[in-house]
Order: sequence, then structure tokens, then C-alpha cells
Amino acid sequence: MRPARLILRLIACSVALAGCDAGEPKKPVMETRTEVPAEPTDKVVKTDAEWKKELTPEQYRILRQAGTERANGEVYKEFKHQGAGTYHCAGCNALLFSSDQKFDSGCGWPSFYDPAKAENVTIKKDTTLGMTRVEVLCAKCGGHLGHVFEGEGFNTPTDQRYCINGGGLVFVPAKTKTDEKQPAKAEPTKS
Ligand SMILES: [Zn+2]
Repeated sequence: MRPARLILRLIACSVALAGCDAGEPKKPVMETRTEVPAEPTDKVVKTDAEWKKELTPEQYRILRQAGTERANGEVYKEFKHQGAGTYHCAGCNALLFSSDQKFDSGCGWPSFYDPAKAENVTIKKDTTLGMTRVEVLCAKCGGHLGHVFEGEGFNTPTDQRYCINGGGLVFVPAKTKTDEKQPAKAEPTKS
């Protein structure tokens, strides 16, 4: 490879969040962890400066500035191919969604028909951009997740579409039976 091309390629790799296919295993676009993070026990309150420091620029833009990721972007493509697992808030680790309620709405953003843990998800009327929509937020840290739409005729148990920015989520793949250490079953003691 000629030096000029190599430099161009290096620039392209460092600019693109995940597009570099120069041989190394591809880093997931959506933050992914192997262990289920600990749930926040209470509301998570941080200053804007703290959020800015802890989150990636994209997570900050989505969660703290109600940003929207690009439709049909890299995160969505990755989401479509993810297997079983849970989706947690990138801001505070709260369990939000699960692959059990994931469905392919074709809208270009990760879609779920219900939250995995209802108490961690809250909604709010949103009248920005000249539309009346229902905003979906993390109940623990107040992070913006996306919007929820209903009555669209999807063949799901709720006919709701939680249209969520994958960039604000952390994916934890479900452990397969073989690598999961089964805890000893606690038998109920009968007295
Ligand atoms: Zn949160």
C-alpha cells in the first residue's frame, strides 16, 4: 500500500466509529458487556459535567440531549443480528429491554413491544419538532431513550412500538447454558 493511501486509510479508521475492517475483530457499535451490570438501587443524579465525562459523545447526545441516532445506521444493523440478551441504560445500568420483546418493525431503529422492567422505563409527552409524541426515558437517570408509538397494527402482544436509540443502550448477551454456572437450587424449607 502506498504511504498516501495508508495514511488515508488510517484517518478513515480513526474517524469511523466501527467501520474499520483491517483485520482486528470488529468492536461492537452498541456498548456490549459480558456480565449483567448491577441495577441502580435509587435514582441516579449527576451533573451535566459528570455525564459528559462518563458517557461517550454519542451516548451523551442521545441520553442527555434527547438526540436521535441515524435510522438504519450501524447500531441498528448490529441490533438486528444480536441474539438473546438484555438491554441496559448506558447511563445508569438499569435494565430496560430484553430480546424477548424485540421485534422487527422495519422502522430503522431498535424496536420493542414492551419494556423488560416496567418500573425502569417512564414516558412523557413530547411536543418538540411540531409533533405530539410520547418520549421514553430511563426512570432511574432520566436519560432519553426514544419514543413509543401505539396502534400501528403490529402483530405483537401490545401493539406498541418502543422506538429506541440503540446507542443509548448497553447490550448483555444471554449466557448459554454451558457457560452458566447454575447456582445450587435453594429448596424451600418446610417447617
Ligand atoms: Zn438510566
